[in-house]
Amino acid sequence: MKHPVVNVGAGLSGLRAASLLTAQGIKCKVLEARDRIGGRVLSTSDPNRPDLGKFDLGPSWFWPQYESTITNLVKELDLGTFVQYTEGAMLFERFQNEPPERHVLPENSIERSMRFIEGTQSLVDAVANTIPSGTVELETRVTAIRLDEAGAITVEADLADGKRTKVYASAVILALPPRMVVRHIEFSPSLPPHLITDLVSKPTWMAGQAKAVAIYERPFWRESGLSGFVSSRVGPLQEIHDTSPATGSGALFGFFAMPAKMRQELGEDKVIKLVIDQLVRLFGTSAQHVSGILYKDWSSDSETAVEEDLDPLRDYPSYGQPPQAGVWEKKIIFAGTETNSQYGGHLEGALQSAEQAAFKIINLNNES
Ligand SMILES: Cc1cc2nc3c(=O)[nH]c(=O)nc-3n(C[C@H](O)[C@H](O)[C@H](O)COP(=O)(O)OP(=O)(O)OC[C@H]3O[C@@H](n4cnc5c(N)ncnc54)[C@H](O)[C@@H]3O)c2cc1C
Repeated sequence: MKHPVVNVGAGLSGLRAASLLTAQGIKCKVLEARDRIGGRVLSTSDPNRPDLGKFDLGPSWFWPQYESTITNLVKELDLGTFVQYTEGAMLFERFQNEPPERHVLPENSIERSMRFIEGTQSLVDAVANTIPSGTVELETRVTAIRLDEAGAITVEADLADGKRTKVYASAVILALPPRMVVRHIEFSPSLPPHLITDLVSKPTWMAGQAKAVAIYERPFWRESGLSGFVSSRVGPLQEIHDTSPATGSGALFGFFAMPAKMRQELGEDKVIKLVIDQLVRLFGTSAQHVSGILYKDWSSDSETAVEEDLDPLRDYPSYGQPPQAGVWEKKIIFAGTETNSQYGGHLEGALQSAEQAAFKIINLNNES
């Protein structure tokens, strides 16, 4: 291949595809709009108390009992993991003005999930470390992909300083959410209409969600026999879990029942206040004494969500490879978790789609 393969997106999928290709001696460039790698993976600490550990504002779990690709990669990269804490009773919040119900769930009724000791970012960082330095270009937002009559591909991108850049590519791996491809990248010639319809119909997993993490000096709820797991019909959080680091401090995180539009109208401060009120209702006054709160609303993140993602999902989306790309066939290859039919939405789907994309490129390379 004369030019490098260009991967759009330095999420787990784009990075893993780059890692697999460079291992086969195929030159790659990864162009990433953000100033960091990882995409929806984001592990961070409280800036005022970094000693209390790292917390995931994106994905936290994987499930070794079903997900062999991530499980094998974690072993290969020798990453530290631990089992999600689930010991003790769960709380069910049915009505705002009544105390929550306390239930002890039957043994093995909660799916066993694994977490990363250093946060899920450790997986992304370890994959990135397998790629030669200089492969990933940050703050490089792809805006257009052009194919000329001779079959040459040019990728155009905006840089942070307002300048534009052009990269010639042998093929392009689109490792960003399908809706972002349609809304943010201009194709010349245009993508076929049936392909555009398919891409728009694949909602970006979790793009309408937000995570709030309340950090405490210790996981005090465990002392009263609570697991930290809550299911709520009151909200704003509909599902709460213990997200304490493997050792040290305590933390609870929740996903929201409150729709994205309402969160955006209320603003971060009011949403956080409602979250703390809910935690106090559930876990008592100790929950008031947060050491810090981390909040990430993915619906307001323009590198993940588009307008359509603000609408709550009614069903689990149908994910999988997009249909034929017309003149773009063998020029653009789709990766990213939403293009994986079995594990679409999960880290496992991101990795499997990367393997599939790398496999297609390796075949193209062998043909040329
Ligand atoms: C709150 C939350 C909780 C989750 N929990 C779990 C969990 O527990 N377990 C699990 O398995 N999965 C979970 N997920 C899903 C998981 O995060 C995703 O499946 C996975 O991270 C997707 O990786 P990806 O590489 O396919 O896409 P992304 O991570 O979205 O990567 C795409 C990349 O493309 C970049 N990009 C976008 N536009 C452009 C452009 N024009 N030019 C250049 N770059 C661009 C983006 O900045 C991004 O870095 C969760 C997600 C969220 C948000």
